[in-house]
Amino acid sequence: MFNRIRNWRVRRIVAAHPIAEPLWRDALRRCAPARRLGASDQATLRVLATLFLDRKSLEPVKGLQLDDADRVLLAIHACMPILKLGLDWYDGWHSVIVYPNAFIPRRQRMDAAGVVHQDDSMFAGEAWGRGPVILSWADVLDGGKRPGHNVVIHEMAHKLDMLNGDANGFPPLHRRMDRRAWSKVFSDAWGRLREEQRNGADLPIDAYALENPAEFFAVASEQFFEAPAGLREHLPDVYRQLEQFYRQHPL
Ligand SMILES: [Zn+2]
Repeated sequence: MFNRIRNWRVRRIVAAHPIAEPLWRDALRRCAPARRLGASDQATLRVLATLFLDRKSLEPVKGLQLDDADRVLLAIHACMPILKLGLDWYDGWHSVIVYPNAFIPRRQRMDAAGVVHQDDSMFAGEAWGRGPVILSWADVLDGGKRPGHNVVIHEMAHKLDMLNGDANGFPPLHRRMDRRAWSKVFSDAWGRLREEQRNGADLPIDAYALENPAEFFAVASEQFFEAPAGLREHLPDVYRQLEQFYRQHPL
């Protein structure tokens, strides 16, 4: 019964706010991971993107304007990670705040001596535990130009990670997944990459991944969707864990 009501609601929303064909084609053209999907997965993604735009509030700030094509593009990127999980995995938050460019979060932090610092580093994106996702639109548009990068997927991965507490690179795993295998694969890969970094080798993944386990999961997720062949070649165990978690096989 519950499913029937839910399906009816979904059909009603999709019928009331369909994504027009030209906007959909344009978004697909600009989203490499979505272009790689088969026709049936693309149709599912279109429904998810429609529901995402209905449920979430996209809030451009600092003079930024987002037209319908921009909104569809953002939604399609955001829904890639939950294509096989469902939009419920994005429950518990409402807003996507979009700055025109990289931004400085208005946030203070206190050091060990109790001194408060204004953090002044520039951010391309940020995800708060129960709060909004914040994005730089310039970085969203840049994503496809830098192989393996996708700031929307990165922040959405943090959101999935935070479903079971702090962002720590350990999202809620599915029942058949092995928690110990996940930890071992990610920590072994992390250790190997750290070693390669110390030896001055070129890393097969953005070095930002080595900031902490949460960033490792988010950066590996970007690469899983944007440049899966490289991830599978260099970090095959990580690739396989992400296949199980996202229930997708980008290759
Ligand atoms: Zn991050």
